[in-house]
Amino acid sequence: MEQAGLSYEAATPYPWGMKAHCLCGNLSADIADDAQAMTVLCHCKDCQRRSGSPFGTVAYFPAEAVTLSGEAREYTRTTDSGAHFTNGFCPQCGSTLYAKAEKYPGILGITVGAMADPAFPPPARSVYEQSRHHWVILPDTMPRHPRGRDS
Ligand SMILES: [Zn+2]
Ligand SMILES: [Zn+2]
Repeated sequence: MEQAGLSYEAATPYPWGMKAHCLCGNLSADIADDAQAMTVLCHCKDCQRRSGSPFGTVAYFPAEAVTLSGEAREYTRTTDSGAHFTNGFCPQCGSTLYAKAEKYPGILGITVGAMADPAFPPPARSVYEQSRHHWVILPDTMPRHPRGRDS
């Protein structure tokens, strides 16, 4: 299935309720039961700084499957391909909750950490391995890319 240019071939059905919220709980996301996640793990330095963690992991859903509640602020950066990428975060506690890429307006990303669910399906791919912290070891079955998914 191809939606707004993103491939959902590796999507994993997730038949139980998906919810995400920031650390203080003021900003949250409810995700439709039948929505399928296409999750990307990114080791780029921007994701490292944005998340405060050695990598960022975002699950992308059709935007209409996600309902956001609460106040958010947004920060938009330019990626190294020149596209704009926006993160939404809670102005109270600073947790990043969502992400959207200018070139995929029909898709909304939710940070996997904000779901705080250890059973959430693994990422479909790992990108920007060129700046992967050396001790981060991923399953051999996960597709890996030195930069973006076309690299
Ligand atoms: Zn918060
Ligand atoms: Zn990144």
